[in-house]
Amino acid sequence: MTSTADWPRIAAELSPVEVSDDPVTIRKRSRDFFWYSPLLNAQLRRSFGDLVAMPASPKELAQCLSVASRHGVPVVMRGGGTGNYGQAVPLQGGLIIQTTGMNRVLEIGAGYVRVEAGALMADINAALKPEGYELAMFPSTQDIATIGGFVAGGSAGIGSVSNGPLRENGNIIRIRALSVEDSPQEYVFDGNDVLRIHHAWGINGAITEITLRTVPTRDWIGCMAGFDSYAACYAAGHALASADDHAIGRKLCSVVDARIVDYFPRLEGHVPRGRHLLVSLVPREHLPAFRALMAAQGGKVHLAMDEAERTELKLPHVFEFAYNHTTLQVLKADRSATYQQIGVPDPGDAARVASMRDRQGEDVWPHHEFTRWEGSVICADLPIIWYSTPERLEEINATYEADDFTVYDAHVCAIEGNHMQPDFGHLAWKKRLDPAGLLNPGKSHAWEKVRHLSADEIEALDSVAGL
Ligand SMILES: Cc1cc2nc3c(=O)[nH]c(=O)nc-3n(C[C@H](O)[C@H](O)[C@H](O)COP(=O)(O)OP(=O)(O)OC[C@H]3O[C@@H](n4cnc5c(N)ncnc54)[C@H](O)[C@@H]3O)c2cc1C
Repeated sequence: MTSTADWPRIAAELSPVEVSDDPVTIRKRSRDFFWYSPLLNAQLRRSFGDLVAMPASPKELAQCLSVASRHGVPVVMRGGGTGNYGQAVPLQGGLIIQTTGMNRVLEIGAGYVRVEAGALMADINAALKPEGYELAMFPSTQDIATIGGFVAGGSAGIGSVSNGPLRENGNIIRIRALSVEDSPQEYVFDGNDVLRIHHAWGINGAITEITLRTVPTRDWIGCMAGFDSYAACYAAGHALASADDHAIGRKLCSVVDARIVDYFPRLEGHVPRGRHLLVSLVPREHLPAFRALMAAQGGKVHLAMDEAERTELKLPHVFEFAYNHTTLQVLKADRSATYQQIGVPDPGDAARVASMRDRQGEDVWPHHEFTRWEGSVICADLPIIWYSTPERLEEINATYEADDFTVYDAHVCAIEGNHMQPDFGHLAWKKRLDPAGLLNPGKSHAWEKVRHLSADEIEALDSVAGL
């Protein structure tokens, strides 16, 4: 589709929007963190866009979308490019729209913040703190990831163990998005309708502005507790995630296998080697209760630091030893590592988790993240996998599935990856906001099957489990 496009003319028509046709810039802006997966690395590393546009306002973004629509070229929205599955990689070339120039914090109110889509989450948190608030959750990539990218591509993060995932009602209050048409139209999604756009990988609208729930900020202490056995560490994680919020608040609850901890050189001298780690953030006033809980579960708190102490010790935030930063810490030392995303069937069953750890063998090292969804504790495993062959990866997946653990395959570059049903709500809105199918083409297999239907016909499929 792009080989025939007149890119110099498109670049000229985009003026005064800043653009770059520099091949190095285009290559860099065509990548995200897909290289975590050896399978996706082979598949995506030669997929590049044709031109990068950097709008500084929603008005400039509308101009980009209008020009793309008139020329019929693919459009890939891009924030910080920290997605893990090639979400922001142009599969069919086209115009990459980098949103980081649209980064204003527009309004801070009681319990909410309204921001432009390209604002970095660390900047939003920095603006909120003096007002007594913080984001209800944010990913461990907050320093370089945008709020638009998180809402379009992410799911949960630091804070979700108290406040639920992004999709929990009330966490995303409002989304404004533009259509890809000759004259782009603005659509506003409120309440539960935000799920029509959330986690759609930028296939069904260009998000301009988001209103999010905020929570009162607290004096968080970064904590690491060590355990002799993984089962005990996991059980402590479950106990912490299940604790009464008023007794022990927490905004992180991660459990990391000792073999992974050995790949964290920054912890040398702070945490003894060979111990399974529970990583958390607890409010200062709850530190005694946290220590007591860890001791009761057979663990010992090795590290408890506030922000000033962390700066003095020259240590990263504790959440950089959690979520997908854990994988990154290992990959820094050895690029043959990869990971997987596993749903734990019964989060309270530490024995079953420990038994799975034993059964998987030496090339699979577990790391669990506890969150809550509508009050219930849920748990995901993001294990380090020492990659050898696709067949061994399949065998590992099969071992999980044989015991009813769910594999949300991190090695697939499609929104309907393993175990994700097509979201016909997303696709119906794609029909309305992106009638020509220009946004992030190739990322939804289901779209290719329903694109000829009307939006209403697609919506009617919502009740059908798959095509
Ligand atoms: C080390 C590491 C740790 C991570 N930890 C977490 C975590 O804790 N929780 C989590 O959920 N994820 C995590 N991720 C994944 C990722 O960092 C987050 O989802 C992040 O918020 C993505 O933001 P981004 O700006 O980098 O988005 P990008 O990667 O640029 O884009 C992500 C998707 O959103 C779309 N998009 C971007 N902007 C817009 C827009 N304005 N309108 C419409 N669509 C848009 C893109 O097309 C793409 O499909 C992690 C990744 C890494 C590498």
